[in-house]
Amino acid sequence: MKYDESNPWKNALTQLRNTAEIIDLDKNIQKILEKPAKTLITSFPVNMDDESIEVFEGYRVQHNATRGPCKGGIRYAPDVNLDEVKALASWMTYKTAIVNIPYGGAKGGVVVDPRKISVNELKRVTRRYTYSVIGMIGPERDIPAPDFNTTPEIMGWIMDTYSMIRGHTELSIVTGKSLELGGSLGRLEATGRGVHIVMEEALKQQKQSSKNATIAIQGFGNVGSNFAQIAHQNGGKIIAVTDAHSGCYNPEGLNIPEILDYVTKNPNRTVEGYPNAEIISNKELFTLDVDILAPCATQNQITRENADKIEAKLIVEGANGPTTPLADSILNEKGIVILPDILANAGGVTVSYFEWVQGLQYFFWDENQVNEALKKILVGAFAEVNQMKEKYNTRDFRTAAMALAVHRVARAIQLRGIFP
Ligand code: GLU
Repeated sequence: MKYDESNPWKNALTQLRNTAEIIDLDKNIQKILEKPAKTLITSFPVNMDDESIEVFEGYRVQHNATRGPCKGGIRYAPDVNLDEVKALASWMTYKTAIVNIPYGGAKGGVVVDPRKISVNELKRVTRRYTYSVIGMIGPERDIPAPDFNTTPEIMGWIMDTYSMIRGHTELSIVTGKSLELGGSLGRLEATGRGVHIVMEEALKQQKQSSKNATIAIQGFGNVGSNFAQIAHQNGGKIIAVTDAHSGCYNPEGLNIPEILDYVTKNPNRTVEGYPNAEIISNKELFTLDVDILAPCATQNQITRENADKIEAKLIVEGANGPTTPLADSILNEKGIVILPDILANAGGVTVSYFEWVQGLQYFFWDENQVNEALKKILVGAFAEVNQMKEKYNTRDFRTAAMALAVHRVARAIQLRGIFP
């Protein structure tokens, strides 16, 4: 039977099993990591503007809480499903272990297209979803954050709902909040900034520079646009960007500040209609002969269908799960280096950790402090992943990153022991 690579949870288990074999993981620990610790499926009614009632489905999955409170974003998408959320929750367990911050992994999702409902409906969906998961979340229990299609504004509504029900203002119930509500300086850009830091470390290792490196970016949301801006500021030549609606291409390099300005002013927040570039599709973007390809949209973008058409030298994963295990094998065979999501996009959760700490202490840092601390953690994590790469002689960074993560989580499980 053909391996079904469209299921992210199946792919996450494949990654875990590949790693387990290489590091000779204790089978008992593997059994624990193969199941999420807690899963909640909720259906909740919401009053719509036209006075009808819509019933929405939502999820919260806590994969593992051994190293600390669970941490992970909430995504809003019409096609989000439980297996996707399980996979994303497990990647949070590994991601937080790689950057060695005291968290376990979680993720949430609501089946909704936020563009198809009004702001007031979105607010009510968010508040009612928060109410449905309130027994699971909390600053020492599970701390949500933004993910695909969720924003600082939505985090503010979650914080308000939780705080009203608990009877006191709780800053650290979510991260990725607006600055006025206890958000952290640098959080909005953190994931894109982290992608850039990890990319620079990899290029340095290959004795190359990011100056004039040609870059193609899939996704122009929070991660893709911030990565584009930072790469552009540092001399990178971004020749293509795409979003869910369209794409821009210029082999001489795109004017990123102008595109960002265009997108911000466009009510649909898309690059569609930007006049000073050629149009390019996602499919074409993946085949460009560039130094760096950055998938910054969603999972399962590089599959067995298109992996052999990829000409980039380095892939840096801003999105979660953009490359399937089958595509990984093809790319490894071709000698294309992949900087995996659980390392490359860990900047977001790292600054979320700083935000959580600041909220718990009611003491806030300046932006330099945040950015310096972020860089130190990511540079250190890249070096530790490299040590694993050498120790286990893995040809790819994903297995090395997973080895580091699984070692840390397994050690924590062993030290705590099994209750009762
Ligand atoms: N959703 C982001 C991620 O996948 C951030 C999670 C967080 O900050 O908790 O890493």
